[in-house]
Amino acid sequence: MPDLAIAGGSAVRTKPFAHWPQYDERERRGVLEVLESRNWGGYPFPNKQAALFSERFAGHQDAKHALCAVNGTLTIEIALKAAGIKPGDEVIIPAYTFEATAVPVLRLGGVPIFVDVLPDTYCVDPEAATAAVTRRTRAIIPVHLAMNMADMDAIKDLAAKHDLKIIEDCAHAHGAKWRGRGAGSIGDAGSFSMQSSKLMSAGEGGVVTTNDDEMFELCQSYINCGRASQTDVYGHRIVGFNYRITEFQAAILLVQLERLAAQTELRSARAARLAEGLSRIPGLSLLERDERQTTQAIYQFVFKYNAEAFGGAPRDRFVAALEAEGIPSDGLFYEPVYRSPLFRVDPRDYPMLPITSGGGLPWQDARCPVAEQAAYRESVWLPHQLLLGDERDVDQIVEAIDKIRCNVGELLRADHKLIKIKGMNRAERPRFDA
Ligand SMILES: *Cc1c(COP(=O)(O)O)cnc(C)c1O
Repeated sequence: MPDLAIAGGSAVRTKPFAHWPQYDERERRGVLEVLESRNWGGYPFPNKQAALFSERFAGHQDAKHALCAVNGTLTIEIALKAAGIKPGDEVIIPAYTFEATAVPVLRLGGVPIFVDVLPDTYCVDPEAATAAVTRRTRAIIPVHLAMNMADMDAIKDLAAKHDLKIIEDCAHAHGAKWRGRGAGSIGDAGSFSMQSSKLMSAGEGGVVTTNDDEMFELCQSYINCGRASQTDVYGHRIVGFNYRITEFQAAILLVQLERLAAQTELRSARAARLAEGLSRIPGLSLLERDERQTTQAIYQFVFKYNAEAFGGAPRDRFVAALEAEGIPSDGLFYEPVYRSPLFRVDPRDYPMLPITSGGGLPWQDARCPVAEQAAYRESVWLPHQLLLGDERDVDQIVEAIDKIRCNVGELLRADHKLIKIKGMNRAERPRFDA
């Protein structure tokens, strides 16, 4: 009788983990109040719920201003637009991130320049970013991910030296703080996602934050069809779109924000226990915690897998076995964007991209070995809701991993379609867990 669930044995965990997203009577009441008010939309901008939420969220992240928009991809675009990114401008982006960090640069006619990440944090390598600066570089988008924040001290130095704008991609960083300052308030602007899986959710939604009054006015104009705000004294207009969110979403976000601090604390406590448990298992290692990051946001708990300690079983095989044990987990969570099927750009659609002499895209020869090692061989990602239950939940994650390690022979022999699925890019992966 096999032990491992992937080989036909019984799973460590059969109960689901905590639900995500969470809601209670407060969201129910908020949505119903908006319904009955008949004031549903985002106009006038910002409307009542959205204005209230924006003010509170800005305060929560230590930013002077916040504005809601329809999603966290567009809030990156909005921030880049307000930062003055023009066709042909280069924007430095860590290769290891969601494709949505880079797509807004293309939409504005800019050129994403991919640089590697640090092996200890998976966030942008400031030296690689420095080496990528040219006279066309206008901005950098540090992405805070894998429980870490990008080294904002180094990024700020770099930006000051070369006169670059900093747009923080905070899609994983609700509540995170660097030297006591909220993510999204350190660079020129920040972008948050309120999509279903994120640390706060209205199903969809995005928030752009900034301390800069002029950028704020440009952002609000871009979101609200190009209109000026009541407070605008600058008078420069840009052709705008309708990127407003509904009052239903803002009402939900108001409650989600009330819950965030307690959830952040609970996840940190569970993560500490999980880290402790994993540190006792040979062949696994944790990312480093930079002391300058004073509050951690945990959107995904990320650790490193060393195949050699597991009889040479590739990471995706391990992740598939973990999933079979009842622990939702992922390996190929992100690909280096320049290799991702979600980023197969047709150069005819982006005439501002400098095409190589061989007719290729500017990043066709990109090589970011740390990002590739993380993406294809080493990283394991556990969704944050696994950390919102009790201690027993965490102990079962450790138990499942330990069980896999103790049954490496079965792991190596297991032949299951889950392994193949787990090794596919998310874009091509069928949903088997629905
Ligand atoms: C989710 C995410 C985005 C985009 O947010 P959406 O609201 O889904 O458009 C951007 N960057 C990163 C790193 C993300 O995880």
